[in-house]
Amino acid sequence: MGDESGPVERFQTYLRIKTVHPEPDYEGAVKFLRAQAEEIGLPCRVLEPVKGKPVVIMTWAGTEPSLPTVLLNSHTDVVPVFPDHWEHDPFGAVKTAAGDIFARGTQDMKCVTMQYLEAVRELKARGVQPVRTVHLSFVPDEEIGGVTGMKAFVETDDWQRLNVACALDEGLANPSEEMTVFYGERHTWKVEVTCCGRSGHGSRFLPDTAGEKLSRVLQSFLDYRRQQEQLLADHPDWKLGDVTTCNLTIINGGIQRNVVPDKFHACFDCRVAQRTPPDEFEALVRDWCRQAGPDVTYILSQKEDNLENSPISPDNPWWSAFSAALARLGVSTCPEIFPAGTDSRFIRRLGIPCYGFSPMNRTPILLHDHNEFINETVFLEGIKVYAELIPSLARVPA
Ligand code: ZN
Repeated sequence: MGDESGPVERFQTYLRIKTVHPEPDYEGAVKFLRAQAEEIGLPCRVLEPVKGKPVVIMTWAGTEPSLPTVLLNSHTDVVPVFPDHWEHDPFGAVKTAAGDIFARGTQDMKCVTMQYLEAVRELKARGVQPVRTVHLSFVPDEEIGGVTGMKAFVETDDWQRLNVACALDEGLANPSEEMTVFYGERHTWKVEVTCCGRSGHGSRFLPDTAGEKLSRVLQSFLDYRRQQEQLLADHPDWKLGDVTTCNLTIINGGIQRNVVPDKFHACFDCRVAQRTPPDEFEALVRDWCRQAGPDVTYILSQKEDNLENSPISPDNPWWSAFSAALARLGVSTCPEIFPAGTDSRFIRRLGIPCYGFSPMNRTPILLHDHNEFINETVFLEGIKVYAELIPSLARVPA
């Protein structure tokens, strides 16, 4: 062998590259990924659908290259950290005696990037060649919405030429023995409410103030939030993706401490469950604003309805290949709706099945949290999962 570094060391090296917003070191990531491709023996190119936002593509040619392909997608960026809350340097990739590796991106989603690469490395070393061609894409800016990353990429001719039939993307850790597979996402809405009213001196009983209306609006949204939370508690088999969350994220208004302002503005981040038709939810919002009083209006500054789910019926060839591969490994899976947003939605909108899957069981969900970690055993097991899963998907007949 002679080579000191193994999968865990390579993972640690990748974790130390600060691809953290707001100034992610994409150059560092590209350099690292190019070197990986070189070592593994995969042709690699770097595209820039948006200037300064590199998309890295590696290709593992199949024995039947004319067939539509399988795509393994991951994003290169990570979210910011609050270092004071971390037990270890968030970009140190420290491994404890228990084998826990601490760093931003250990779960979201540098683990998956490296597991794809390690699985392909291992399979290639064993002389395996996939039937369909397998592409790996490494995209920027997922954590800031994906518009300058995956969304821009799927609009290019380069994307078309990949000829993707089925894709894998990120999922979430699962604290139990199971692994979660995501086949859809909730609708993502940002509801911006403006409450207008009488302004005047802060010492008086003015009628029709913006503050009273804001209070009623808040009450309606937060009552609904409580009901949804209760609904989830009442149905032990439901997951977060099965109910609607609406959280107050921004309030502004007011100009001076003794002046009653003529308006307040509130923003709610709403993730609407697929069981609630978008029209129905909007009717609720309209009612809540009307009930709050005159001159209360709303706009939907984001309204993304994710109506395309990937198939999870046993007669679907992609899903049956996916679930059979995991069953062979003795892994039980639970299909769910993803509670937040990922790049998968841009792929699903093209009518291409995309499964959100991060093979991390026995792991607390710590994405975007302090002290994000993965145990090295879980990381290494995940490589085995992909080593089974990738060739199985690539074997799905035309
Ligand atoms: Zn992610």
